[in-house]
Amino acid sequence: ANKLLMTPGPTMVPERVLKAMARQPIHHRTRDFGEIFNSMNVKLQEIFGTKNYVLTFPASGTGGMEAAVANLFRPSDKVLAVSIGVFGDRFAQIAKRFGVDVDMLSYEWGRSASPEDVVARLKERKYKGILITHNETSTGVINDIKSICKSIREVDSDILIVVDAVSSAGGVPVDVDANDIDVMITASQKALMTPPGLAFISVSERAWKSIETDPVSYYWDFNAAKKGLQKSIPDTPYTPAISLIVAQNEALSMIMEEGLENVFLRHQKIAAATQAALNSLGFELFADKSDSSPLITAVKAPDGFDVSRFLSLVDRQGVVLTGGQQHLKGKIFRIGHMGYINKEFLLRAFEAIEMAMVEMGFNIEKGISLKTIDETLV
Ligand code: PMP
Repeated sequence: ANKLLMTPGPTMVPERVLKAMARQPIHHRTRDFGEIFNSMNVKLQEIFGTKNYVLTFPASGTGGMEAAVANLFRPSDKVLAVSIGVFGDRFAQIAKRFGVDVDMLSYEWGRSASPEDVVARLKERKYKGILITHNETSTGVINDIKSICKSIREVDSDILIVVDAVSSAGGVPVDVDANDIDVMITASQKALMTPPGLAFISVSERAWKSIETDPVSYYWDFNAAKKGLQKSIPDTPYTPAISLIVAQNEALSMIMEEGLENVFLRHQKIAAATQAALNSLGFELFADKSDSSPLITAVKAPDGFDVSRFLSLVDRQGVVLTGGQQHLKGKIFRIGHMGYINKEFLLRAFEAIEMAMVEMGFNIEKGISLKTIDETLV
């Protein structure tokens, strides 16, 4: 049977999207494909909150991050990488591999970045770009991207703001144009309700000016992808992941039918219910409430709590949660609640969590978290 994925991604894919994918590939140099591709692109722009081109590459989020670095920066370019966890560190590592001169602004895991710190660093040194994670999936912390971008622009009007929105776009507002974000990257398998395999990258006018016509990479060439989008029947330079694009288009239609504001609200409500349910079972959240993510909740493992045993007991009930990464391994577990997420899924997850806790010898009031969810999510 299918397991319920309550993970940081991949997330559950609605039946309608699965069905859209279960057909023969459409040839990618045809009007049929062009119409679907165009329809997907228009909806992506709406989700990104941008009039900029949104480029599509067959890749996971990491591939999208690497593509951004390969197109924007040259060896020795100076970049400030703001890291609040695994994915902030990853972005910095990618840039270092390309020979970029990376300075770090790192925070203790579990904290969010402060606009004041960013500004202080930008005043110390002139950077070509800044790399920031919007929602740090490894710690369940969301950065206040609006305030950070606003503060950056107050001190530097031409720095390239590059945002990893892999686990946020589609679940919370990202407002690329309003926040003056130059390059924003996301991927299909989280809030966008589609299987893994597509990366989406928006590119601003400011960024296009610094993108060379001969980037070091042939396959990830942003200009080539842009040319495809400028055609009357849009296409991609090379064979795209056609079935995933068909699926993504369907998933975005579902998001638009529900209404973006409603989708954002649903994420907030589900996150609040998740947090309340965890509290009812005696768990503490890893992140401060003020910047805890509406997309994923990281939970502190109580003393002596065997996270890997817990995860396997939950898995046995057909629900997949995840543990912590790197030094948070064994210290936290994470519940993803982004994309195709609803009350029914949340109840199923907590039923499994309660069963696992009982099996582990915890003295909990059976059904308390389900009752809490029921009361919170009206
Ligand atoms: N950034 C963030 C914030 C993420 O959550 C992830 C995936 N967990 C990535 C980057 C990397 O994406 P992928 O696993 O799709 O390469």
